Amino acid sequence: MSFDQHGRTIDYLRISVTDRCNLRCLYCMPEEGVPSKSHDSMLSLEEIASFARIAAGEGFKRIRLTGGEPLVRLGIEELVTKLRAIPGVESIAMTTNGILLPKMAKKLKEAGLSRVNISLDTLDPDQYHHITRWGNIKEVHRGIDTALELGFRPVKINVVVVRSLDQDLLAFVRMSLDRPLHVRFIEYMPVGGSLGNEGLGWTKEDTIPNEELIALINQKTQEGGLGALEPLSQQSETPTGWGPARYYQLKGAKGTVGFISALSRHFCSECNRMRLTVDGQLLPCLFSNTSYDVKAALRSQDLDAVGQVLRKALASKPSEHHHKVGTEHYMSQIGG
Ligand code: SAM
Ligand code: SF4
Repeated sequence: MSFDQHGRTIDYLRISVTDRCNLRCLYCMPEEGVPSKSHDSMLSLEEIASFARIAAGEGFKRIRLTGGEPLVRLGIEELVTKLRAIPGVESIAMTTNGILLPKMAKKLKEAGLSRVNISLDTLDPDQYHHITRWGNIKEVHRGIDTALELGFRPVKINVVVVRSLDQDLLAFVRMSLDRPLHVRFIEYMPVGGSLGNEGLGWTKEDTIPNEELIALINQKTQEGGLGALEPLSQQSETPTGWGPARYYQLKGAKGTVGFISALSRHFCSECNRMRLTVDGQLLPCLFSNTSYDVKAALRSQDLDAVGQVLRKALASKPSEHHHKVGTEHYMSQIGG
């Protein structure tokens, strides 16, 4: 088991396998994409697997592949196979925009991927096209269907809520009724460039704090004749989560509705994760600029040095982000 100096168990590794993406969500990436990195500056699949092996030796049990869009990284299925073979790795998940799932999900399942989170911020085709700058929502729906048909469980739907986008949130809650879909509303965070109004244009007003959102959605479900959202307090009732979502359910629903707040209710005391960026930097905290160079250690061929970097990063995990929320990286570079 890996504990940090604040007594938290740290056993969840999020790996950004690419900073490229086939979409350009307004709140995540600039339209022109992120400046391209040289091939050499990115970790190879073998290097990622080597690091994961060392992390598993230190007690990391759960891995999430993210990005950028992880499905555009060449050889992603091969990476899942390699990670699956590591003793101590109990589960491998992926966060994806879902576009390429119909084509790739079967192979990924066979390779050992256990669960998927699919990002979808609106159910309106035109708004989806606007938010992602060119995406076709039909492809995401096919991705969700494929994930369910292949038996990935749980399948979670990540919805970033942006006040000025005025998304139809009730439509998402309805999605949790008939199929085992776990919809999670995520507070919009400032990312990219300098924090505040620059970068990707985040404003404080555009973030709807969780408490306000829960009240708003409860009002809508009741007005819409769906009844109130019932809080799920037992761990056994919630989709086995690795993160800090608070879950609710509509009466009789097959899925759940969750709320994730990094801003209004920070969950640092429950933090269980470390992040590895595509260029081999280990980030002890999403909102801190401190990073540890795993790539250099990996390339020195000295595996003890890699373990030392990991332990150093663990030891430096802050107790909390002290209300400095947001990151100067683009989300696509660190994987959310
Ligand atoms: N491309 C994949 C996807 O979209 O699921 C994985 C990478 S994406 C950076 C990971 C998660 O970060 C997604 O659920 C996305 O919605 C979320 N995200 C991106 N920018 C965000 C922001 N500014 N605030 C909150 N969440 C954000
Ligand atoms: Fe791509 Fe995911 Fe970022 Fe959208 S949120 S631009 S899909 S990396």
